[in-house]
Amino acid sequence: MKTFIIKIDINSIKKNSDAGMDTFAVLGRKTIGSDGSSSRHIQIVRSLIPIPDYSFEYLDCIVECSLCSEHFSYKELLDGDYECDEDTNICPKCKKSNCCVLTFETLDQKTGLIIPLRILNSN
Ligand SMILES: [Zn+2]
Repeated sequence: MKTFIIKIDINSIKKNSDAGMDTFAVLGRKTIGSDGSSSRHIQIVRSLIPIPDYSFEYLDCIVECSLCSEHFSYKELLDGDYECDEDTNICPKCKKSNCCVLTFETLDQKTGLIIPLRILNSN
């Protein structure tokens, strides 16, 4: 099966000014007191994933289905049932799952540099 490397768009890498923030305030319901004054309850919400130091986007990549040999963007690949890991990377043409292997580049969140991939050559 062919492995395709999905590269990070170097021009899309940007440092987040609010990195590390994992809490934010949400305005709650407004309550009206008996004297007519109103106050708002403020709720502090903790996000599950703190904002990373750097954000980025991936470049598009044309992949090839190992079963029907069709070419298409990796973004066109379909996902199956999330409870079944094997039912992923479904070919949009022949609808077979695991039609290719994708390897995504990752970013070092400390330095903002792309981590070099160790190329796994299966063939
Ligand atoms: Zn296919």
